[in-house]
Amino acid sequence: MSLTSTMAGCFVTVVTLAARGTAASAQNPLRDHTEGVEIRFARTQPVVGYTLRVDAGELSGFDVELRLRNVPDTFRLAMVAHPEYDDRNWRFVEALRVQTPHGAATVTREDSALWRVVAPGGEALVRYRMRLPAPESPRAAWRPFLAPTGGLVGGPHAFLYVVGATLGSSHVTLELPPEWQIATGLEPTLDPHTFFAPTVGVLVDSPLLVGRLRSWRFAVDGVPHGVVYWPLPDAAPFDTAALVGSIERLTRQAVALFGRAPYRDYSFLLQDGAYGALEHRSSVTLGAPSADLARDPRPLLGELAHEYFHTWNLMRIHPAEYGDVGYRPPPRARGLWWSEGLTMLYADLLLRRAGLPVFDSTRVAHLEGLIGRYLASPGNSTFSPESVSVVAYGAAPGSLGDYSASTHLQGELLGAMLDLIVRDATSGARSIDDVMRAMLERFAGARGFTGQDIERTTAVVVEGISVAMIGCEDLYLDRIRQATVGWPREDISFDSALEIALTNYQDMDWDYVARRIAGASQPERRVGDAMRQVNRRVRARARRRAVAASAGLGE
Ligand SMILES: [Zn+2]
Repeated sequence: MSLTSTMAGCFVTVVTLAARGTAASAQNPLRDHTEGVEIRFARTQPVVGYTLRVDAGELSGFDVELRLRNVPDTFRLAMVAHPEYDDRNWRFVEALRVQTPHGAATVTREDSALWRVVAPGGEALVRYRMRLPAPESPRAAWRPFLAPTGGLVGGPHAFLYVVGATLGSSHVTLELPPEWQIATGLEPTLDPHTFFAPTVGVLVDSPLLVGRLRSWRFAVDGVPHGVVYWPLPDAAPFDTAALVGSIERLTRQAVALFGRAPYRDYSFLLQDGAYGALEHRSSVTLGAPSADLARDPRPLLGELAHEYFHTWNLMRIHPAEYGDVGYRPPPRARGLWWSEGLTMLYADLLLRRAGLPVFDSTRVAHLEGLIGRYLASPGNSTFSPESVSVVAYGAAPGSLGDYSASTHLQGELLGAMLDLIVRDATSGARSIDDVMRAMLERFAGARGFTGQDIERTTAVVVEGISVAMIGCEDLYLDRIRQATVGWPREDISFDSALEIALTNYQDMDWDYVARRIAGASQPERRVGDAMRQVNRRVRARARRRAVAASAGLGE
């Protein structure tokens, strides 16, 4: 396929003897039986309880009560920022007030999402109202809403947390109109209206779909899965058995790929009258208009497969920039092309493996479509997937100049290419599935992945020799860039760039290299200029040696 050369030039195989195996032991499993507890005791940890109250007569918002014990006299409360979908929910916090049994207490806003509370005596009762954003049509499935028959509350949109205590647990009690049911990824307790969150991360990552719900259940490996549907009063009838059956088949394929489900249970939270979706660790909120489902369930299944695959690829296998929750958005993730693109790839693969209907009749037809879209937008080959990743969400318009590019599309194609390369290098013994499993084992814990980690993971061991694959131009560009640090001194990166240029002089796509250096100059002029100088000297030297070699003069 001509695409390979368009995307990354020739592929060199860098052969290193047994250079890997360093991070082979997984970091996720518990080290000792004493770690198998939900609450770890720390003397200074606050005791936290929330009550979330929905009043059927006043659906413009909901009330939250936060009971705190064992807090210092002065502490801070904050509202989390979501790494990609930061809706700046602090805008909707109203009537925030605090009281203590021990005298006067105050709460002061220090920053948009941050409040300072002074409450002597180690105990505080904080109350506020979360106003709901203005209604929109169609409604975004991940934003909170309330209607006479139900709504979406909790999650990242509801709970202020104690800054510095994100590893503390909390209980959440819901006070809802009678007959409303609850579906959530939070842990159930003996009280059907009270739930448990072992950390703030889990608390804000587990929205609550409440109301008059329809629900179905199935188990995979004994792990319960729930499909929950919130219908509009005038919902169109659709084949619910077929929908739930399709979801079960998809689920089985994903679990089979990784070998196990990574959660206690999982809830598909589907809403009528809404669009879009947001993935979570053990649930997904998904817009699923009944009229669309009645007409053609394929688009929804495609989106559902994508969001569900994020349970592994993004929520577990996470970019290095993403860590614990915080009230400031984390740095933009350079690895989002992997998190989104490989998830696009697997949405298609899982649907096919499950034997579910897809739009493109074959994988080849699907790839054809992707390549067409890739080539139709020059931004895709002008900007690296990492640089498109950092502007994928929430960036200012024009971040790529007049170009546009899709990190989802770049990543999906790169994933497909990696699959071909791995299959080719191992005579079909290994595939991208093995890479995904290795990524899960290495980067689902505290440490997330970087671009270099992907390269290292994609190294395949063939007869005891580790073979890493990367485009030689990209490898060269990386060394050139490193060489600018010590420039004009010729350092080890300069030597390394020269080495690559010498061995690949005839085959390198030098136009591609020049284009990429020109691209680097736009955001970082000085780096780009230095890269150009390094490149000029390396190339001149490599050309002289190549000419000398061809004239039989040797070195
Ligand atoms: Zn996604």
